[in-house]
Amino acid sequence: MYPIIRGASLLAVAGGTILLVAARTTDRSVELRPAIDSGTAKHIILFIGDGMGDSEITIARNYAVGAAGRLAMDALPFTGEYTTYSIAEDDPSKPVYVADSAATGTAWATGSKTSNGRISTSAKTDRDLPTILELAQQRGYATGDVTTAELTDATPAVLAAHVASRSCQGPDDMAQCPQDRKTVGGPGSIAEQMIDRGVDVLLGGGSSRFEQSVSGEQTVAHQASTNGYQLVKTAQALRGVSSSRVLGLFAAGTMTTEWIGQEALPYPSNVKNPQVCETDHRRSQEPSLSEMTAKAIDLLERATRDGAFFLQVEGASIDKQSHAANPCAQIGETIAFDRAVRVGLEYAAAHRDTLLVVAADHGHSGQIVSTPADADHPSGLLSTLLTADRTPMTVSYATAAYHRSQDHTGTQVRIAAQGPQAAAVLGVIDQTDLFRVMARALGASTPPPSSAR
Ligand SMILES: [Zn+2]
Repeated sequence: MYPIIRGASLLAVAGGTILLVAARTTDRSVELRPAIDSGTAKHIILFIGDGMGDSEITIARNYAVGAAGRLAMDALPFTGEYTTYSIAEDDPSKPVYVADSAATGTAWATGSKTSNGRISTSAKTDRDLPTILELAQQRGYATGDVTTAELTDATPAVLAAHVASRSCQGPDDMAQCPQDRKTVGGPGSIAEQMIDRGVDVLLGGGSSRFEQSVSGEQTVAHQASTNGYQLVKTAQALRGVSSSRVLGLFAAGTMTTEWIGQEALPYPSNVKNPQVCETDHRRSQEPSLSEMTAKAIDLLERATRDGAFFLQVEGASIDKQSHAANPCAQIGETIAFDRAVRVGLEYAAAHRDTLLVVAADHGHSGQIVSTPADADHPSGLLSTLLTADRTPMTVSYATAAYHRSQDHTGTQVRIAAQGPQAAAVLGVIDQTDLFRVMARALGASTPPPSSAR
């Protein structure tokens, strides 16, 4: 369980944190010089917090470790920001300021901007865009794709599938992508393409997509086991896996959230009665994101002779619970994601030839606002939480009407990195640049952006 700091335990729990803060105030040039590495990486681990803008990180930090505390993801030596806009389907020369996870994922997966809803295909022309996972495979790296969402959801899908619409997740979901159906010579749904692509380690939710039939009695899951995948459905079964090709499906849809709590409501909501989140809510048969990350690293490292691998790990429900204006569930997913980052950092500490990146796909709606009062309060949905500082923090969601799904925002978001090529994330870059950072780390030549503006 992530420590919820309470009064006297502050020093004990946050001891490392305080040291970290102190270190940041000293001359860091000696420490940073050797961190600048222009070489290639034998291991690439990309952590994506879906909908994890600076605001979402701050909300989680304040709640879980206090305003002066630091999360694992705060410890990376190089931090920058990247722009996340997408482009218009009808006129790709025009930006769309608020992007979705399909377009943003396509940006780092392929190095090209696309329109909202597309999975590694180009806006307007519907061309397949080669992905970083495919490039890693060509260069002999084992590959893994881990998420708390459905494996066929946009963020995991962009690495291993090419379809016109993110909705085309299983063979029965192809209404928006008639040209991609296998029956007309297309590559099939996202689920089919992920299996056909031979991604070594696939862990997440979304079993219902893989239980759809490809032809007659054969389901996508059947096809996966014919293709050599070991299928697992529980955390217990995952622990026993030793095959380097595994399909782990731990929920029919999105995996359960780690924490629960009251949803945000119009004022006065719970402003005068701050809530404390309920932790440890995930079903025991569903592994945590950190457990999936550790297992994926372990399997991938043994999948090839030299141990080279590319792995993407997504904390998906930071986004999904922001849509639901549920701050406790959102924070719990951010903290669970941070624990997965910690697993990656521990691996990277022992394997210096690891490029480790922590980024988001787009910002989301939650904002930390001043204490609302009868005389003056925001018009959106509000929830007040009692933080690790034992201080109330009010979070406002105001990007959609009450009872509607809260919307993403168009802000730039944090990207942080360490290892070979990591220094390239400094300053303000674009999401498509992350593709080139990772491609260089793979030792591939990096073509200039194509449809990126
Ligand atoms: Zn979203």
